[in-house]
Amino acid sequence: MTKFSDLALDPRVLQAVSEAGYETPTPIQAQAIPHALQGRDVLGIAQTGTGKTASFTLPMITLLGQGRARARMPRSLVLAPTRELAAQVAENFDIYAKHTKLTKALLIGGVAFGEQDKLIDRGVDVLIATPGRLLDHFERGKLLLTGVQIMVVDEADRMLDMGFIPDIERIFQLTPFTRQTMFYSATMAPEIERITNTFLTNPAKIEVARQATASLTITQSLIEVKPARKDQSFADKRAVLRALIRAEGEACTNAIIFCNRKMDVDVVAKSLKAHGFNASPIHGDLDQSVRTKTLDGFRDGSLHLLVASDVAARGLDIPAVSHVFNFDVPSHPEDYIHRIGRTGRAGRTGKALTIAVPSDEKYLKAIESLIKSEIPRGALPEGFVPGEDDGRPERPREDRSGRGRDRAPKGRDRDRAPKPHDEVAAMAPVVVVPKPATAEAEAVEPKREERRDDRRGERRDRTEARPEVRSDLRPEQRQDSRPEQRTESRPDSRGDRREPREDRRDDRRDYRRDRDLGPSVVGMGDHVPDFILRSFALKTAPTEDIAEAVTTGTEG
Ligand code: AMP
Repeated sequence: MTKFSDLALDPRVLQAVSEAGYETPTPIQAQAIPHALQGRDVLGIAQTGTGKTASFTLPMITLLGQGRARARMPRSLVLAPTRELAAQVAENFDIYAKHTKLTKALLIGGVAFGEQDKLIDRGVDVLIATPGRLLDHFERGKLLLTGVQIMVVDEADRMLDMGFIPDIERIFQLTPFTRQTMFYSATMAPEIERITNTFLTNPAKIEVARQATASLTITQSLIEVKPARKDQSFADKRAVLRALIRAEGEACTNAIIFCNRKMDVDVVAKSLKAHGFNASPIHGDLDQSVRTKTLDGFRDGSLHLLVASDVAARGLDIPAVSHVFNFDVPSHPEDYIHRIGRTGRAGRTGKALTIAVPSDEKYLKAIESLIKSEIPRGALPEGFVPGEDDGRPERPREDRSGRGRDRAPKGRDRDRAPKPHDEVAAMAPVVVVPKPATAEAEAVEPKREERRDDRRGERRDRTEARPEVRSDLRPEQRQDSRPEQRTESRPDSRGDRREPREDRRDDRRDYRRDRDLGPSVVGMGDHVPDFILRSFALKTAPTEDIAEAVTTGTEG
């Protein structure tokens, strides 16, 4: 078996690896590192959890050991699809490069330009970035990519999902053609193949086994719920989830709970909290500072349950997650693999429990055919009766009145299987149902305000995606600087995926934030005409008095 010491890595890297506790290289590391060290292009077909980050970081650090960075000209570039993944690569870099003097900068949305500019001005050896943010810096004239000797594209299939391929192509064209390229993707969609054929030169192609087949340490279980009424399904699933978490007891040291829709992420998290669980949501619509705080809490153990969307949690490396709960069966089978792969990492044991309702059947079939085995059927927790509440209040204290509340889509709409464009559909005006199915369901539905905000967000995002001609750019720069080109959706073999849109919107919001335009203005923002702020007296004053009060500005 290959040892790290066989891999001709810089001794300082070997020391850091041994301090990280790694004994032997993973298959992708053992195969990719020798080619990378020879300066060859690498095409890695591997998923997260295989050790792929170290497979490019370790040789990069070794190769960059010689030489110095010049101002504004990074020597290497790592592109990751989301801020969280980029931050994770940066963390890995810090671990493996700790005995070297190499410098790095992380360019992600949600962070002020000023600090990032300072680092780049000084010169960095490694630049880790999301594609949109990188191009923003480039367009502001703060960055030159002509010094890039090594370029890594991580999670290219997700870049494709999120509409970043045009950005990636552009970035490739901005770097020298003599660069070394390491390109990673979990799948080889035709579009990804086209990119690799165009921009990689005679790459060493390394394919490692799927995570699902490798992760024998994960115990999977499927809990089938048959709601008495279809409109009861969402509430029943929440009750089953609570019962399952309780049944796992102390064995559940922490867990990620996946929902298909980000709207449900919020509702499920709220519901769990209302039942006394220590839970928080994470999805692409939350502010970056909130996302970071939530993840930090989950990592350090102060948060027990992380309720997540696929985009927000996929690829995140949180080593010790004891349980994964699929609140919904994912509509794309690969997401099942990604989700359960959040537990049972690095040789640990883990448990993945999936809640399914009868309408999930076709998605289950697709998953089971992908993993080539049947998910073992588990029993409902002892004493649990579907449709019966477990007797604990779900209603958050501040919401007890339940007044003035509208409800999110329920029954047929709520429980139907996810369809393309659901993300947008979820933002559409909602039909108000006169009476909630249960008091519990009512208590946790998002308020009308929240949903209206969501819809505004959607409209705002659409507005932001409008072409924008920037006068501060040279004509040749202008050509590609429009945000919608970055976020454009592409024809995709996985056309039914909804999550990526969430992140694309997120990226568009970043685009707005990144340009220091300030927060989006909702309604009239600060410019509310005076008369709207006036209060009107309802006393039985003569009409002329009221008219007087309004015109002179006196309060009634
Ligand atoms: P990645 O696929 O890069 O997300 O890595 C998955 C996890 O495996 C991370 O927690 C790494 O710290 C860990 N890891 C990477 N390489 C090794 C190795 N050779 N031995 C043990 N753990 C590793």
